[in-house]
Amino acid sequence: MTERILQDIHDEIFRLDDWGTPAQYIPELACIPPRQFAISVCLANGDCLNAGASDRPFSIQSVSKVFSLAATLGRFGDQLWSRVGREPSGTSFDSVVLLERENGRPRNPFVNAGAIVTTDVLLAGRQPKQALAEVLGLIRAMAETDDIHINDKVATSERLTGARNKALAHYLQSHGNLQNEPDLTLGTYFHQCAIEMTTRQLALAGRSLARLRAGPNVISPRHARRINALMMTCGHYDGSGEFAYQVGLPGKSGVGGGILVIAPRVASIAIWSPGLNLYGNSHAGTRAAAMLAQTTCWSVF
Ligand code: GLN
Repeated sequence: MTERILQDIHDEIFRLDDWGTPAQYIPELACIPPRQFAISVCLANGDCLNAGASDRPFSIQSVSKVFSLAATLGRFGDQLWSRVGREPSGTSFDSVVLLERENGRPRNPFVNAGAIVTTDVLLAGRQPKQALAEVLGLIRAMAETDDIHINDKVATSERLTGARNKALAHYLQSHGNLQNEPDLTLGTYFHQCAIEMTTRQLALAGRSLARLRAGPNVISPRHARRINALMMTCGHYDGSGEFAYQVGLPGKSGVGGGILVIAPRVASIAIWSPGLNLYGNSHAGTRAAAMLAQTTCWSVF
């Protein structure tokens, strides 16, 4: 693996005509120009390679669900699974359909309903500030930098327009699957989603999940294995099957256009391009992940 390979992918991406559309339902993200791209790869030998805008912070949005899940599993262990499942949903990230059919138990911790419940669990006995500090602290420890912050404007923007998520939270509450007031859990969830990182930082943070670091890790091997399994089956919502087919690696996307991809024991990869495809996953980012997998043969299959 060389930086040349990443630069070639970058150049190929810039030949695309279609870059997708930035998330329209979050006003702060809607106006971001889509023709932007970054890729960073951390390898087992400690090297980290980059191409494109790899030092530009972006809104990690649902990529944060990987870290809130890790924090929740670390603190509460298997307790989470009585309230959230581990099956792919085959529905969009903010769908309400299955919640009604399945009595308010979200399919997995990566669809919005499941992530809202995960945040609700993490809030047990604590203030939002403390729960957020725990998630941010975990990310900073994983990335080995304190220069990672929450963008309050993005969180507020989503709070003002997030009717879907409000509906999901109230629906969860009606089924007894929310222990805090919907606004409290949602406020925490929106702030967690509004964390900003560069691809360089996100790839560094992914090393614990890829088991690239010798010695004590921030995430236990058991939890890393399980989080990777969920990323593979559920990390791209109703685009998860296609991502597994094209890329063959666990991945987690966010509507900010970021994707964290893990090649177990080989590499941690972060990609960003803010235009989204029909499933709400980065359009150019997904293409780049497929190109990288093809060039490197890193597919787990
Ligand atoms: N904050 C976003 C939302 O709740 C996250 C969704 C996503 O990134 N897929 O809608």
